[in-house]
Amino acid sequence: MPPKPDPQFRADRTEAESVQTDVRQCGIDIRAIAAAGLEHQQQYRTICQWDVCMLTVTDRLPEGLLEIEPTRLYEILDGPTLIHLPGRQAPPLFVSVLLHGNETTGFFAIQRLLKHYGDRQLPRALSILIGNVRAARERARRLDSQPDYNRIWQGGDLPEHQMARQAIDEMARRSVFASIDIHNNTGRNPHYACITRLESPFLQLATLFGRTTVYFTQPKTVQANAFARLCPSMVVECGQPGHSYGTQHAFELVDACLHLSHFSQRPVHPSAIDLFHTVAIVKVPDNVQISFDSSSSADICFQSNLDLLNFAELPAATRLATYKPGREYSLHVTDEGQGEVSDRYFTYQNGEIRTKLAVTPSMLTLDPRIIRQDCLCYLMERYPLTCKIEPVA
Ligand SMILES: [Zn+2]
Repeated sequence: MPPKPDPQFRADRTEAESVQTDVRQCGIDIRAIAAAGLEHQQQYRTICQWDVCMLTVTDRLPEGLLEIEPTRLYEILDGPTLIHLPGRQAPPLFVSVLLHGNETTGFFAIQRLLKHYGDRQLPRALSILIGNVRAARERARRLDSQPDYNRIWQGGDLPEHQMARQAIDEMARRSVFASIDIHNNTGRNPHYACITRLESPFLQLATLFGRTTVYFTQPKTVQANAFARLCPSMVVECGQPGHSYGTQHAFELVDACLHLSHFSQRPVHPSAIDLFHTVAIVKVPDNVQISFDSSSSADICFQSNLDLLNFAELPAATRLATYKPGREYSLHVTDEGQGEVSDRYFTYQNGEIRTKLAVTPSMLTLDPRIIRQDCLCYLMERYPLTCKIEPVA
């Protein structure tokens, strides 16, 4: 039978909120945590014990989920919520959305998908993780008091780390089929997939989304890297939020994956993919003021249309920014081994910051808050993919 909204899911929010507050406030008081968890479980008819901490797990669609705006999700969800829906094939596709609260395309794609199927059965079981509900309320990537929900997937002591661990365990127990983590960029970027392994199933998954694919190995704390130990997994970057075609692209990807019966071991042909490899992450030191306005007196002033350079193969000596003459500023650039490599990629001369060698940036953004919370950009190089082409019999 198709999933139905659970009318009990919204029962007595005031009580539910107080339960969660108890759980949060009781710290190491195990009895209080257990009591609160039991009460919470009864109210929400969830299906596992994990809700003693942050993660709610349910096999029913919360009432109103398909119509609600991400900013109002907090009205029907306590926080991170994992929803298991049945399908004709059993091992579930895992889709995470809103790990960053301001990146709404994945959530809208899930709404579109579930409305599309309506009362019909899904082709494959689907497990949906709705991530940072509190940040979504504020249209923020994360709140200042929170860790980044896509940097919590490799251990740690915070409740959010435990939530991630529980989501992994829950999906491992269900022999997850594949994992898609849906994101947006704040700057202008083409749509692209990111994978942490170059095995054939990962490349096949990426090419379901498009040609442009980034292979990355840092940071290791992302969701896609954690799930790569369980199944083919990837992140998809669906451009900036709020674009209907981004939602449609993500919807079509998830639908295509739901229809996949298996992943072939046959290699992806190199001509089917534009593969890049992340070689460095560029950050701005906290004590350096930045601006995108050339009339500003900030320490470093970047080009006002910097994000147009995303995925452009920049030649050496491309000017990216100016800085106050007579002062010394340096971007913080780390390679895959976490070594400082700013001098390898940039020159700082005559008040100008230029590329030192040919390189391709991605995720350049004009949003200073995102630059502070995440990074200025990633630097990439093309990654040659080779495969043995078998003769046609
Ligand atoms: Zn994101």
